[in-house]
Amino acid sequence: MLKAHGFSIKDIGGLPTAFIATYGKGRPHIALLAEYDALEGIGHACGHHLIAATSVLAGIGIARALRPSNGKLSVIGCPAEETIGAKALLVKKGLFRDVDAAMMIHPSDKTEIVKLSLSLSRLGITFNGVSSHASANPWKGRSALAGMLSLFQAVDTNRITMADGNRINGIIKQGGAAANVIPNTTEAEFFIRAADIGSHNALLKRFSTMVRGTAGAFGLGYAIKHKGNVYYPLKPNFAFARVFETQLKKMRIKVDNFFTDKELGSSDIGNVSHAVPTLHPTLAISDAPCPAHSEAFKKQANTPGAYRTIKTGAALLALTAIDLYKSRILLSELKKDHYIKYS
Ligand SMILES: [Zn+2]
Repeated sequence: MLKAHGFSIKDIGGLPTAFIATYGKGRPHIALLAEYDALEGIGHACGHHLIAATSVLAGIGIARALRPSNGKLSVIGCPAEETIGAKALLVKKGLFRDVDAAMMIHPSDKTEIVKLSLSLSRLGITFNGVSSHASANPWKGRSALAGMLSLFQAVDTNRITMADGNRINGIIKQGGAAANVIPNTTEAEFFIRAADIGSHNALLKRFSTMVRGTAGAFGLGYAIKHKGNVYYPLKPNFAFARVFETQLKKMRIKVDNFFTDKELGSSDIGNVSHAVPTLHPTLAISDAPCPAHSEAFKKQANTPGAYRTIKTGAALLALTAIDLYKSRILLSELKKDHYIKYS
């Protein structure tokens, strides 16, 4: 579709479903991000199909209004937001090196212009012990499950003295095979989150100590495996947010919050926001409360009303981009805001 509208498309090495579609040349260079991945087991319960369509439609709209010599526009296909955090790789590959501003809209049950997000590390924890007959000679074994249960206990009791915004959540993926065998191996997955990178690294260190400590207490071997990329917390850009707010006002769209640091998840757009000025507002697709990653949100994201927000969102993104192409002053305000430290 983008090709048919004059964009040239390039693959991004190493990521088979990522792409970059570009139009025009020079600066400013504005990037629209298109996510499209679904959630394992539930499907499009985060509305990424709406994000993809919104960014593509906005791209086509901007390309029609932009003279190729007035700047460059990219629509970047960003896979795997829910699994490995592919945007972190795109940043590392230098895809944003000449980008002046990046944006996308996420569907939600509220319209919020600046919604913070937390850092995220996904960890696989394995404990290795010794199996034995659970009744005949349990003393010959070392239970990897006992260690794992104790680790969950350690996390829960440590929670009392954790900093605000810290989150540790885990599940046991493998707890043993039979109740008459002392389990010699167990595996868990933990998500570690924090409000800023400093707290994130401190929490990772604290958690590793808990893993090491419980393994030691039960005579077990252990392994900590980092899965995917570390997601950075969102670095907000208030100058960018104000440009977007102007468009919402023009289109008479009700804003629930200009800024919120409540009910936060994580997104790899955080990594983009540390590289370049980034806008990641949410647009309501429902009047009633309807949290993402639920069956209800999946249903809501597949209604005519939700599909209408593709057009609204695309218009909002396109008008925001056009303001930035037209005004170098606005663009320099975004850059100034980007270099102010916020954590
Ligand atoms: Zn999402």
